[in-house]
Amino acid sequence: MSMAITPSGDKRPLALSVEGLTYAFNESMPLFANLSFTIREGEFVSLLAPSGIGKTTLFRLLAGLLTPQGGSIRLGAEKVEPSGAAHRRQSGRIGYMPQRDSLMPWRSVLDNAALGLELSGIPRREARRRVRELLPTFGLEGTEEKRPHELSGGMRQRVSFLRSVLGGGELLLLDEPFSALDAMTRISMQEWLLQIWEQHRKTILFITHDIDEALLLSDRVLVAEASPVSIMKELAVALPRPRTYQTVLDDSFVLLKRQALGLLGKEAARQEGASR
Ligand code: ADP
Ligand code: MG
Repeated sequence: MSMAITPSGDKRPLALSVEGLTYAFNESMPLFANLSFTIREGEFVSLLAPSGIGKTTLFRLLAGLLTPQGGSIRLGAEKVEPSGAAHRRQSGRIGYMPQRDSLMPWRSVLDNAALGLELSGIPRREARRRVRELLPTFGLEGTEEKRPHELSGGMRQRVSFLRSVLGGGELLLLDEPFSALDAMTRISMQEWLLQIWEQHRKTILFITHDIDEALLLSDRVLVAEASPVSIMKELAVALPRPRTYQTVLDDSFVLLKRQALGLLGKEAARQEGASR
């Protein structure tokens, strides 16, 4: 039996639906066994799980870069096909920021960041103008003409993030987009993402290890604990929007964090909760 995770009462159309997904790189170690979940249009959902569990692999499956051994993946009503015309059409509907940045070494920061826009049909000059406008917000001012090898890991991550967010696609898959950033830069990127998400309400699936980050950004958090993943626990984040980084200081946020720690099986959190 597959168990679909769907927020009750939410009538928005499905942006993504995964049913009975089964995948293994080799037969003995399946990463996913009959996994089902859905994401609605305009939802911001985070995926919280330890490393090695298969998060990046899941994204590659969703993007049609790998073929599942069982089950189905649908974007809207359309089945994800890993090859052929359907795949080309679908790849335009997904903005995928891989965990390891895939910047082109011969392209400048400006041209790397503008690539997403160009691929979605925006003329180059206009694409570059929009990127230029955002460079200060991203702490990338003055790096326009630099090549990726001249940047720090955190800067490369921000260029890659900028490219994915600006590019087309109604579904954004972001694989640990802020993991290489220092705390202060991370906070400003989170606030920027909150702001643009509140304006555009794209559907976002966001991978992170950071509980605060997952709660601050998301409508729902999905938690996967052990391989093979067949069920993900779910936490609804009903904090009011707009949110800013200050939200992490609210009592309601701390309460949710306690629940999240409980879901992650952190004993200490449970005891603390019980003594309240
Ligand atoms: P996560 O992103 O959650 O850290 P990954 O999806 O990167 O996990 O990897 C999950 C597991 O699959 C790991 O054990 C990893 O070694 C293995 N794996 C990832 N990519 C490949 C591959 N191309 N071939 C074989 N095994 C792989
Ligand atoms: Mg990964």
